[in-house]
Amino acid sequence: MPILACIGLSLIVYFLLMGNIKDMYINDAKKVQCGKCSKKVDATYTFCPNCKEQLKEPCNHCNNIIDINWRYCPYCGNTKGNR
Ligand SMILES: [Zn+2]
Ligand SMILES: [Zn+2]
Repeated sequence: MPILACIGLSLIVYFLLMGNIKDMYINDAKKVQCGKCSKKVDATYTFCPNCKEQLKEPCNHCNNIIDINWRYCPYCGNTKGNR
């Protein structure tokens, strides 16, 4: 019986650790780097909370919010520029 308890405990620790690692990975994947101050900011932000640099803008064709660094709109294929 103590062996079973040991295995159970290890499994719990294992899953807790794996959960943390997965969370860290997911959090990191959601971050983008601000082009102005190089700070990592949440990918959903429209403005950098550190220097107020604009990170996203609405596509001038379909109005979906897209990353300011993208050259083409992924929603409608419109080429950015001429602004
Ligand atoms: Zn910034
Ligand atoms: Zn578009």
